Amino acid sequence: MKTHVDMEKVLFSKEEISEKVAEVAKQISADYEGKNPLLICVLKGASVFFVDLIREISIDVEMEFMSVSSYGNSTQSSGRVKIEKDVGIDLTGRNVIIVEDIVDTGNTLFNLRKLLSARGASDVKICCLLDKPSRRTADIKPDYVCFEIPDEFVIGYGLDYAEKYRNLDCVGVIKSSAVMGSSSK
Ligand code: 5GP
Repeated sequence: MKTHVDMEKVLFSKEEISEKVAEVAKQISADYEGKNPLLICVLKGASVFFVDLIREISIDVEMEFMSVSSYGNSTQSSGRVKIEKDVGIDLTGRNVIIVEDIVDTGNTLFNLRKLLSARGASDVKICCLLDKPSRRTADIKPDYVCFEIPDEFVIGYGLDYAEKYRNLDCVGVIKSSAVMGSSSK
């Protein structure tokens, strides 16, 4: 296992993650049989999860990549998400699955889901590696979740702190000594 001196404890090993990712992929394959869903990877954090997930899905799927940052909160109306990199195709009538690393307050996904629905997607579901339900402020409930976690800052398997640790193959809690006082996307 590729762990790190800055990781206080491992929450999920490489093996536990791959087992769970395969389970979620099997569920998506069953739910979307014959629907050719469009899986949208939210960069950068979801990238590692995304490439593992799609390779376990047994039906035809398409993939796109987006990079977004969220402004405001879920009580504000539309347009609260800044798109840094957009999808390259028309979403009209598509069954979309947003693939995200972690749902925290839910604000980013609340705004992104609204935006993609407004573009004509027939259905927008959410698949995440990690869910921190205790932190939720927006009206978001992910449809596919690999693991629920408590309110701790985690790194590894795509998730960073100040752009580090994305290459670790497990997910774990960062040591407080490695944190400089603020978190990064
Ligand atoms: P939300 O809009 O749900 O509050 O923000 C979700 C984003 O916050 C995630 O996509 C991720 O980039 C970041 N985030 C939230 N919690 C964590 C965490 O524990 N670790 C890391 N690395 N990023 C987190």
